[in-house]
Amino acid sequence: AKRAGRNRICRFDKSLDDNLRRRRAIEAGLSKAIAGKELELHYQPIIDGNTLNVAGFEALLRWKSAELGQVSPAVFIPIAEESGLIRSIGDWVIRQALNDCCDWPQQYVAINLSARQFNGADMVQILRGHADTAGVPYHRVHIEVTETAFFEDARGAAETLGALQSLGFGIALDDFGTGYSSLFSVKNFPLDVIKIDKCFIDGLGLEPQAAPIISAVIHLARGLGLKVVAEGVETEDQRQALQLLGCSHLQGYLFSKPQSRSHILTWLKARQTA
Ligand code: C2E
Ligand code: CA
Ligand code: CA
Ligand code: CA
Repeated sequence: AKRAGRNRICRFDKSLDDNLRRRRAIEAGLSKAIAGKELELHYQPIIDGNTLNVAGFEALLRWKSAELGQVSPAVFIPIAEESGLIRSIGDWVIRQALNDCCDWPQQYVAINLSARQFNGADMVQILRGHADTAGVPYHRVHIEVTETAFFEDARGAAETLGALQSLGFGIALDDFGTGYSSLFSVKNFPLDVIKIDKCFIDGLGLEPQAAPIISAVIHLARGLGLKVVAEGVETEDQRQALQLLGCSHLQGYLFSKPQSRSHILTWLKARQTA
């Protein structure tokens, strides 16, 4: 029994070690990713629930590492945040997204900003500067933040968002409903859009709580004059349910997966002539 116990500890130590090694490899790889041209933005359409027109595109980062292959942003973004690399990567994302969106003059581009990137940097200066350079009007740019961006310095965050909003940038609260203080965030921060997290959409037709919760969020948003994007819409049944509930915008694999810029342009053209 003692032996088994020791083995277990050994195995545990080894997996910790593997984790750490993989982390270091990701960090080392990431620090070369920009110069090595290993980063790419993919785009996923956001659909107007009433007209079914394409309202915007969310930029989602992809990394194909020479050493590690394709790594998910769910894995490397947190590591980039902790190592501080998120600043340079985030800056690259903003510049690239603002250049790319010149290809679709009707729609907005939505850019994810991590908490670490948002705090302690002059986001107003950065976004404004890059938008001016690319010649993109501010109202065609949405930023997506989660409420973790508000924790460190709530007053500073509210000021930054207010300044961006008054310049015309759209502000979306991402992953709504998954944090600890969603209502507090809605009350205290200037917003234009609420994005209902995919986990609520997944429950539609399966869990009795899903529809009433989504309906409540939609009413809350409407009362505050905000738009609502439902994330992760995968089925026709979900789409119908969300439209019946009055959801203003829809996003998910049902319409399109995130695709490279050239693929999304082809997709857009085909859709507009259909
Ligand atoms: P997020 O901002 O909540 O993005 C939505 C995620 O859901 C994306 O995963 C998207 O590909 C996925 N998704 C969209 N529709 C569907 C669907 O119908 N079904 C399913 N199963 N998934 C769907 P992705 O691209 O892997 O990104 C994961 C997370 O990484 C993002 O979550 C975001 O937090 C972060 N991220 C991605 N790109 C960036 C970036 O440029 N900057 C920052 N700071 N974070 C980023
Ligand atoms: Ca997002
Ligand atoms: Ca989200
Ligand atoms: Ca998310």
